[in-house]
Amino acid sequence: MLPYQNEIRSIVFDLDGTLYVSPALYENVQQAAEELVSDSRGATPEESRILLKNAHQRLSEALDEEPTLTRTCMELGLEVQELHQAIQDKVHPERFLEPDPVLYALVDSLRDSCDLYIYTNNNLLLTRKILALLGIEDLFRHLYTIEFSWNPKPDPDSLQRVLEDIGGPPESFLFVGDRRQVDLGPAESFGIPTLLVSETADLLQIHKLMGIVP
Ligand SMILES: [Mg+2]
Repeated sequence: MLPYQNEIRSIVFDLDGTLYVSPALYENVQQAAEELVSDSRGATPEESRILLKNAHQRLSEALDEEPTLTRTCMELGLEVQELHQAIQDKVHPERFLEPDPVLYALVDSLRDSCDLYIYTNNNLLLTRKILALLGIEDLFRHLYTIEFSWNPKPDPDSLQRVLEDIGGPPESFLFVGDRRQVDLGPAESFGIPTLLVSETADLLQIHKLMGIVP
């Protein structure tokens, strides 16, 4: 039994790769970024892929961690807003996602003891669309999307603002995500409990942690 299990009041979920896993949707997002690089640089699709790959590698070495797509595009001189406009225009989650009743049951059963939030580098329009497609759009108290600060995770200042907005001491939070450095690292440095997941079934760990029967 963990000491904080009864103190958690706010669970903050990452979205992509955490509440669903879809390689095809991920590929669609990558493609939108490649097309944006093509358009803005006048590069061929092949050149754009290489530009993104090289920027990704440069950042991996400089940061000693896996950079997000947003950071990689920023490294190529693109604005975060431009990237999200391209994603909004060219990414079609309705082609890849469908309602997930197991996910609904797992997440819904947490609401008796906690308020639930999303904190994602994705934009509001797409976040809403994805949650609706999964059938879980009504379960969250607030969605913190890229529009909240236009500074993608990991970003301690934006995280601080999210925490202040929700309110409560570090031990009243639980952060859940699929990328340790992006979703969980900054929260851990504030003393917040975290959980790393890689598939929907891993969300059951939250129930175990909190002594809840799903
Ligand atoms: Mg993720």
